[in-house]
Amino acid sequence: MHTPTPNRYSLTPSRRSGRSGLILPAVSLGLWHNFGGNALRDNSRAMLTTAFDLGVFHFDLANNYGPPPGSAEETLGAILRSDLMLFRDELIISTKAGYTMWPGPHGDRGSRKYLLASLDQSLRRMGLDYVDIFYHHRPDPDTPLEESMLALDQAVRSGKAIYAAISNYPADLARAAAKILRELKTPFVLHQPSYSMLNRWIEDGLLDAAGDEGFGVIAFSPLAQGVLSGKYMDGIPADSRAGKGNPFLANRINPAHVEATRRLLPIAQARGQSLAQLALAWALRDTRVTSVLIGASSPAQIAENAAAANNTVFTAEELAAIETALRG
Ligand code: NDP
Repeated sequence: MHTPTPNRYSLTPSRRSGRSGLILPAVSLGLWHNFGGNALRDNSRAMLTTAFDLGVFHFDLANNYGPPPGSAEETLGAILRSDLMLFRDELIISTKAGYTMWPGPHGDRGSRKYLLASLDQSLRRMGLDYVDIFYHHRPDPDTPLEESMLALDQAVRSGKAIYAAISNYPADLARAAAKILRELKTPFVLHQPSYSMLNRWIEDGLLDAAGDEGFGVIAFSPLAQGVLSGKYMDGIPADSRAGKGNPFLANRINPAHVEATRRLLPIAQARGQSLAQLALAWALRDTRVTSVLIGASSPAQIAENAAAANNTVFTAEELAAIETALRG
């Protein structure tokens, strides 16, 4: 079993998720990449224990994370058993269902059949009795919203999830989901949208919905999959996510975004932060953002990124300089 750092909860600040009792570290760790069946187990293990030692006690998964799909949950389960299971009550572990997982009409999207069967599969892969947060991963326009929300409610009532959550829902649908779940008295506490300096859609309604309805926001891909770390300023490093040919990023790096990172660099330096830290701190400047959900390929990245949460206050001049740098 891992022996954690005693003062871990003083290292990374945490924030309350909306008006709920759930508290999350301001920086959380996602297992989308680098935890699948193809990843180096020692590195995955070192990343999880490093995160926990830094007070990053929230790990985010989904049924389909891998590759192959499901294998990131298996990796987490194995590392929990070898290193972290003693600390299960300190950990906040989430999973999701909403994308293709098995053949046929009930292996995808938002039916009650799919969501509840998928949660059972996720629990088996992780070797857990419950997850702390269960998400509907994306809206399904063909299934009544009430059916998907009743499945989340059922997940909570059955004790297989502590809290219900949604991801990738637009603001109006998030408000409608919140209303249904409030009427059911289901603890709906969190929305997981994409958000970064290069992708600001949540500023147009979703953050207001979060404030009004009382749910928190955990921002995924806050570094735009690594672009905002500045690592692509001088080409594509072979050991980077894009260099490894990831289909979500390879050939899609926008030169204008890379130029923006060049302009952001002096602002980061003046604050004593790396570019990655500047981008994460900026995403946390609004306290309706409960946490930024990072990915990582090494323990060192997690340490660098977690430290960003200790400096999230910006002067008006800094914010204006960032807007100028982003506009170009
Ligand atoms: P990020 O934007 O944080 O990108 C993470 C990648 O950036 C790392 O894997 C690493 O890639 C690089 N990186 C991170 N820190 C540094 C650093 N300090 N210096 C240099 N490079 C760095 O997040 P992700 O896109 O990985 O998403 C994070 C999590 O969000 C996922 O794991 C998942 O849990 C969740 N997510 C949810 C989605 C949803 O639909 N709900 C969709 C997508 C993600 P490398 O070193 O390999 O270049």
